[in-house]
Amino acid sequence: MITELDLPTVLFLQKTSYIAGAMTLGYLRLTSTESRGAGLLAASFLVLAAGATLAGYAELYPVFYGFLSLINIALAVLGYCLLGLAFALISNPEREFNTSLVFLPAVGTVMAGVVTDFHLNNTYRATTFTLLGCLTTAVAAGIVCRDASREPLPIRKLVAGILAATSLLSFIMGIEFSFHAFPVIDAVEGFSLMILSKFVLAIAIVIFISERQHIKIKNLADRDPLTGLYNRRSFSAYAPHEPQPGDSILFLDLDHFKQLNDRFGHALGDQVLLVMAQAVQSILPASALLARHGGEEFVVFLPASEGDAVLHAERIRRTVADLRFPGPAAEVTVTISIGIARASRNGSKLSEICREADRALYLAKADGRNRVCAADRAPFRQATQG
Ligand code: GH3
Ligand code: MG
Ligand code: MG
Repeated sequence: MITELDLPTVLFLQKTSYIAGAMTLGYLRLTSTESRGAGLLAASFLVLAAGATLAGYAELYPVFYGFLSLINIALAVLGYCLLGLAFALISNPEREFNTSLVFLPAVGTVMAGVVTDFHLNNTYRATTFTLLGCLTTAVAAGIVCRDASREPLPIRKLVAGILAATSLLSFIMGIEFSFHAFPVIDAVEGFSLMILSKFVLAIAIVIFISERQHIKIKNLADRDPLTGLYNRRSFSAYAPHEPQPGDSILFLDLDHFKQLNDRFGHALGDQVLLVMAQAVQSILPASALLARHGGEEFVVFLPASEGDAVLHAERIRRTVADLRFPGPAAEVTVTISIGIARASRNGSKLSEICREADRALYLAKADGRNRVCAADRAPFRQATQG
């Protein structure tokens, strides 16, 4: 089907692919919160479309051939530099970069053209264009892959794959333009595949940004903003609704926390909550689920496979008691009380076990605080004092 098209039609379609891509990305620029990368990519597509249009005019108006072809290659260089930068910013929006540097290679190209007249040679121009495209898309593919360790989005693989394929295609076309040999694909097929890659890239970037926003929104809904732990709602969603026999729920509540706030201020109170949450998370097994239940209360789901819940609770209690916070005069310490309840039979409901753990916590408080109390041993109270 591709070979049925003639070259002028394909070149026209190439421009429309740039414009369609630019419109999609421009819309994303206006509607998404992280807009720098999408905006730059839209700008790069527009610059590449303008460059391609000027190339056509250069052929139509021989009088201006020299001037138009120089601007054409300068715009192509600028377009590809913008494209590389855009992908670096889409991949990691926090990346710092001096955007004005992106104009330097284009200025250098104009100067090289003025001095050497290389732009008057179609082969040199086409080779520069395609090999630069090869280089920038290869670097962009590398950046998108490397940033996966920082933000592992599944769509990265697709974006990096399209960029790598575009780079390879540009390389093949660059070699063919240079040597007029090595006919792997003809110009029509090459440009047609380039058009396809622009459309697919634009769509992949829309998916990339919406995937990232979906994860952000999910985190906002699932996480407590102070400690970063799961909140009460997501705990209810992610903990098993019918725990297996032996699974435990631990209710944790800081002791006399209101007094701590009143004496040392809310900021220190917040710091205590954050540090304490991190400390507890760090000593819990990976299979446990820790959440901020509200205020200075936390809840843990501990699977039966992790052994005795009382031992885990004791470890948490001691860890919290060992924390030190800088106070106005001396170091400040905090203690925690913990209530534990276990699922004793099949079909126990999470909500029932949570209620029992809350009752055990109440007993731990009534017994003097800074202790662990298990609901199933309530009459004897498994109480510990640090
Ligand atoms: P108890 O030993 O009986 O648990 O006493 P308590 O003072 O810890 O419990 P109480 O329920 O009376 O007070 C809880 C305090 O926790 C009151 C509230 O100001 C504080 N608190 C709740 N959420 C936050 C928060 O996000 N930051 C800070 N700094 N304090 C909070
Ligand atoms: Mg408390
Ligand atoms: Mg409380």
